[in-house]
Amino acid sequence: MSDGEEDSDHLIFGGVDVVDLGARYGTPLYVTDEDRIRENFRSYKNTFETVDTDFYFAVKANGNLAILRILAQEGAGADVFSGGELRLVKLAGIPMDKVLFNGNSKSEEELRAAVESQVKVSVDSREELRTLSAVAVEMGGEAEIAIRVNPDVSPKVNPKIATGLRTSKFGIPYDEILQTYEEAAKLPNIVIKGIHCHIGSQILDISVFREATEKMMQLVEDLYERGIELEFVDLGGGLGIAYNKEKEIAPTPEDLAEMILPTFEAKMQALGINLKLILEPGRSIVGSASILLSKVNTVKHAHKNFVAIDAGFNLFLRPVMYDAYHEVVVANKLNEEASVLSTVVGPVCESGDIIAKDRMLPEVKRGDFVAILDTGAYGFSMSSQYNGRPRCAEVLVRDGAVDLIRSKESVEDVIRNQVVPERLR
Ligand SMILES: *Cc1c(COP(=O)(O)O)cnc(C)c1O
Repeated sequence: MSDGEEDSDHLIFGGVDVVDLGARYGTPLYVTDEDRIRENFRSYKNTFETVDTDFYFAVKANGNLAILRILAQEGAGADVFSGGELRLVKLAGIPMDKVLFNGNSKSEEELRAAVESQVKVSVDSREELRTLSAVAVEMGGEAEIAIRVNPDVSPKVNPKIATGLRTSKFGIPYDEILQTYEEAAKLPNIVIKGIHCHIGSQILDISVFREATEKMMQLVEDLYERGIELEFVDLGGGLGIAYNKEKEIAPTPEDLAEMILPTFEAKMQALGINLKLILEPGRSIVGSASILLSKVNTVKHAHKNFVAIDAGFNLFLRPVMYDAYHEVVVANKLNEEASVLSTVVGPVCESGDIIAKDRMLPEVKRGDFVAILDTGAYGFSMSSQYNGRPRCAEVLVRDGAVDLIRSKESVEDVIRNQVVPERLR
């Protein structure tokens, strides 16, 4: 991932020496490589050239506006999960006819925003379908919909990110889909456009996509036979990336296409119809494109050799939330021998605030820089102000140039919206 000069022991990222970045912008600091995002997106575009495909970036993976602008330039649509994410993609200039509003618990206000913005809605329950129809009637607008199918398939991933299991909170049960479409077809101001599923995230064994495609295309056929014709099939996101390069191999968009396209194209041909394919990659577009740069506050030789850095689960939740593995490197000692078994921990007041357990690292000292790799997806977007810590800054790097894309918060930002009632003053 780095292409540093031979003699430098500094990590180079996007053509920039990250130690210089740390000195200039302070730490913690999210650093994102623009070219990597463009490459990752283009590898999808180039792979699915043979069918009419749109790629709706899953904004929850990374909601930074500059990053969304890059994706808008590349021709991405967006998968949004809240009124806030809808606002973000609008600001980023993603066309509203390439947006799908998702979610299992949308407020009436959010349904209104979807109708008003004329974005497609992924309907997650039959009650929501009726509410959406009523909202559209009241507003004198139309709601274009897809039904979110729970396809009852099992990706072999962490249960917290498996979303297509029969027991998951997402989607309408597979055996209720046809009746739900029949109801939708009769409801006023509802326009049926497509069908949607998303089976999980960080999927490395991608054969499950073949199973999901088969199930979805069977529904397309069943609906067609009932006189309900769709314009698109949205198979969601979920392609995994190799966080642990020694143990994992990342499937590519090409591998994914092999799982999806034969079934997809065969069914279209059999029915004599044309469908748009929509995919919703999040992690596989942005995951590898960022690092979280931090500085070592202290090293303690106790039960373990603890390397305490200035970024914890307040800024990067994945290791704690999903037991996720992330590679860490000492960014100013790249060429030093990894001779010390170390556990990298954050500053949060929780014993669980562990970023990397039992790793061989060079001997680390206070003031050294530690970079956590592959933090572009579900990184900053899941950050919090826990422990009264302001969120950090973000920079974008490209070809050796640097741009600030998010200022760091101040303690004032943590306090700003709090109110002490008069009687307590
Ligand atoms: C989270 C999510 C995605 C993106 O998943 P990745 O694993 O990041 O590719 C796509 N679609 C929906 C509906 C999601 O909830």
